[in-house]
Amino acid sequence: MTTISPLIAGNWKMNGLTHSLEELSELARLLTTGEAPRALVVVCPPATLLAAVAAQGASSGILAGGQDCHTDASGAHTGDISAPMLADAGAQFVIVGHSERRADHGESDGDVRTKAEAAIGAGLKPIICVGESEAQRDAGEAESVVVQQLANSIPDAAAQHEVIVAYEPIWAIGTGRTPSLDDIRQMHAVIRDSLVQRFGGAGETIRILYGGSLKPVNAREILAVDHVNGGLVGGASLLAKDFYTIISAV
Ligand code: PGA
Repeated sequence: MTTISPLIAGNWKMNGLTHSLEELSELARLLTTGEAPRALVVVCPPATLLAAVAAQGASSGILAGGQDCHTDASGAHTGDISAPMLADAGAQFVIVGHSERRADHGESDGDVRTKAEAAIGAGLKPIICVGESEAQRDAGEAESVVVQQLANSIPDAAAQHEVIVAYEPIWAIGTGRTPSLDDIRQMHAVIRDSLVQRFGGAGETIRILYGGSLKPVNAREILAVDHVNGGLVGGASLLAKDFYTIISAV
């Protein structure tokens, strides 16, 4: 099995005002005074804090990411942010296709794919999210839904450019519920197979993150599952202490 360096990304969602940067300072302190982290650490704050996170995180190795980008590089799209703008603010990553974007903004797999292409074009690494709903899991469709999302959301450019996949079962996001370790193992193996089938050797090296109620109490066991190459953390990334515990669980 190819070794992949793990990555833990925090998704602050629509949380965070200037004083949240104190949490970032605390995270930086923990990361630089404790044992060196075994994972790449990425923080995806709201766009208003992105430049500050990128600047402030630099000295402690914390990388910055956006939470979404437009498909176009610039233009008449009031309220939107483009991938080159995120890169200009210091981002190296961007989440695309989060289930909250898919639900709140009606984003299709095709939109997600175009956003991932825009991200790659701007030199960013897209974190492409997939995951089934509870009804789809109950109907035994979880794997086919996720395989379909992967096929339609990941651009062909993933063969030559770094992309990251995040498997986030929708019913586990923000609910405190997680799939069993066996279910996570099974789904991550299915995702790996589908990446290798499509991208060959490059598919072996794509990180597959788990997301959905990843917490200090469950991080160690979930992050040790085969083909779990890190995590995408929502709620538990808002407190430096909790996020650091998850990073240290790698
Ligand atoms: P959660 O969110 O950790 O709060 O469940 C994860 C995510 O939506 O990325």
